[in-house]
Amino acid sequence: MMGSMGRLLDGQAVAAAIRADVLPGVAEFTSGAGRPPGLGIVLVGDNPASEIYVRNKVRSGTESGVWVDLQRLPATASIDDLLAVVNRLNISERHDGILVQAPLPEAMGRHAAQRVFDTIDPDKDVDGFHPANVGRLVQGRAHLAPCTPSGVIELLDRSDIPIARRYAVIIGRSDIVGKPMAMLLLQRDATVTICHSRTADLPEVASRADILVAAIGRAGFVTRDFVKPGAAVIDVGINRVSDRATAVSLFGPSSPRLADFDRRGSVVAGDVHPEVAGIAGALTPVPGGVGPLTIAMLLKNTLAAASARRGGR
Ligand code: NAD
Repeated sequence: MMGSMGRLLDGQAVAAAIRADVLPGVAEFTSGAGRPPGLGIVLVGDNPASEIYVRNKVRSGTESGVWVDLQRLPATASIDDLLAVVNRLNISERHDGILVQAPLPEAMGRHAAQRVFDTIDPDKDVDGFHPANVGRLVQGRAHLAPCTPSGVIELLDRSDIPIARRYAVIIGRSDIVGKPMAMLLLQRDATVTICHSRTADLPEVASRADILVAAIGRAGFVTRDFVKPGAAVIDVGINRVSDRATAVSLFGPSSPRLADFDRRGSVVAGDVHPEVAGIAGALTPVPGGVGPLTIAMLLKNTLAAASARRGGR
């Protein structure tokens, strides 16, 4: 490892603080409404990563006093089957929030996710993906903003990393991370550039950032040459590495992470190469960085949706 280590941003601790902030609101809602806030999670098929995400969401929600209703559909379900479940949750009194876990089976077709987002009642859309909520986000009046980028803002705020007047570069332009991340940073008065797979001179653009957000989906893609010394680097990527040579190139030949790999046959890595710790001013680890924040923001959004549905917005 080269140079001195940047500060590691503890997503677990910040997520715990957010959950602690949500608890009294959940208790107040529950006593006022005579029922807990309700979150419907729909899981289609048996993607192993999705199973883990959903299990964590169910556990975290339940521990916070939210009623989590997991609805499972087989991998063979049709898009119409799925939309029928969503419509049922839309009209249910007990479900305040609805989340359909991505990815959907490929057999559902290329536009399946968009059809789901279009169908979810915007008032129950705790992921913030319905076009009405996307529009509100762009206009700076979001009620339910996407969980992962909102979690990043909370992390920056609670780590005393200033946003206003600073230059932020986001690598990745997806609807669920990159684009909403850009909107939220813009609202906080950052100057924002969105980069993507066709961006020219990507390392050069990235290396001007005070705040660099990587949401690409490629293990270790962001190397030292992408990073300005002292920058805050937020690693959204969650990538399963199952090739040993790649694991060695990321973690070195004698790290605990490589030992993990040798025990389990795979390891989770972010989009940011571990060597960046030697140049960044602050860096989120993977795992334990942005991931836990996403779940904490889901609970926050569920409470917000529940309160708004009772007229307490
Ligand atoms: P996506 O595949 O929808 O988007 C990836 C983006 O990266 C695209 O916009 C693309 O233009 C860009 N990209 C791809 N290759 C590139 C290249 N060579 N150079 C520059 N840009 C390139 O992915 P996503 O849904 O936005 O997710 C990104 C990553 O974040 C994934 O690893 C995903 O698992 C992870 N993720 C984590 C959380 C969390 O809770 N921490 C939540 C959502 C997604």
